[in-house]
Amino acid sequence: MARTITPDAIRKNNRKMIYDYIYSHSKVSQNDIVSALRLSRPTVTANISELEEDGMICRDGQQDSDQIGRKAIVYSVVPDYRIAIGVELTGRHVKIINVDLYGRKIDRVVHKVKYENNDTYYSKVCDLIMDFTGSRGITPDQVIGMGIAMQGLVSPDGNTVIYGEIMKCTGVTIDVFQKRLPYKCTFIHDPEGAALSELWVSPELSSAIYLSISEHLGGALILDRNVVRGKSGHSATFEHIQYDPHGEKCYCGKTGCFETVLSMHALLGDEDADEFFAKARTHGTPESKKWHSFLQILGSLIGAVHLVNDVDFILGGHLAPYFTKEDIRVLYDVVRVDCPFEEPDDYILISKMPSHNINIGAALPYIKNFLDNADYLTRHR
Ligand SMILES: [Zn+2]
Repeated sequence: MARTITPDAIRKNNRKMIYDYIYSHSKVSQNDIVSALRLSRPTVTANISELEEDGMICRDGQQDSDQIGRKAIVYSVVPDYRIAIGVELTGRHVKIINVDLYGRKIDRVVHKVKYENNDTYYSKVCDLIMDFTGSRGITPDQVIGMGIAMQGLVSPDGNTVIYGEIMKCTGVTIDVFQKRLPYKCTFIHDPEGAALSELWVSPELSSAIYLSISEHLGGALILDRNVVRGKSGHSATFEHIQYDPHGEKCYCGKTGCFETVLSMHALLGDEDADEFFAKARTHGTPESKKWHSFLQILGSLIGAVHLVNDVDFILGGHLAPYFTKEDIRVLYDVVRVDCPFEEPDDYILISKMPSHNINIGAALPYIKNFLDNADYLTRHR
């Protein structure tokens, strides 16, 4: 059967092309769009007026020109025409962020609230979210959706926590939020949020292993710019690979998992990271020895994983800013000992986005969906 392109589909496509062009270039004139997209001037003019009337783009000054005469008006996207909300729940905090259409933080608040898997807690968190949006004049239809990052594995549809031993929240469903909030809500596993942030700021990144080293250890597998959740949702759970059969007990119930030796909790206990590293950088201190053995263990994990998947290995999480060039050199040396292949030292990378990455990453799927989906951009009036 031959497919016909309907006038409606052409209209949608033109509108999306023009919006995308303004989004990716900023401060563009109608002339710029006509020549870049090879569309007729009346089509561009009509779409510009509609997008401006709908509040999606705005006039953003005039174009500098060498020519004498009237300067052309330039347009930019209104970055907060739609926003997404990212919420990060940890054992002790509720972190709420709103993110504009460029994936940038607009505002962020952190509340000290102890996690409890009960209605009182979920109701309190929803009140905090409504206060956050209400006090900033954010209307429900401005919010594309809200992602909630959990320290637990999440079902592929984002509706259920399928394994949440850290917070004892296995089995929690999204209804606890959805029934109290006027936005579409989904759960996301926290390292996946971090990996999505990394992809957002790294257009050159294709496939990688992402290791999130924060209070707990976590990971994500990035394949062709997608985060792979796997058949049952537990891809890249490096934290539960056994390192030492005689080691400490992990929260998963097994013994000696990498979680028990490579998490920040394992490295620091209750000590502050800044204080630890101030001492660790002095040769011969107990902290320096501890950090050295941490790097040896981390190197052995990177080496093993690198043999399975020969892609970039990104060190992320709250520990990422503490790695030095010398640390990375040590890691390459450790990997080289057991690796039969010679290769350049070009695959161990430090995260480009160590702060708020989980918080922002929780919101990003909604932003991406908005930008990818022409239907969102269709006029409904
Ligand atoms: Zn474990």
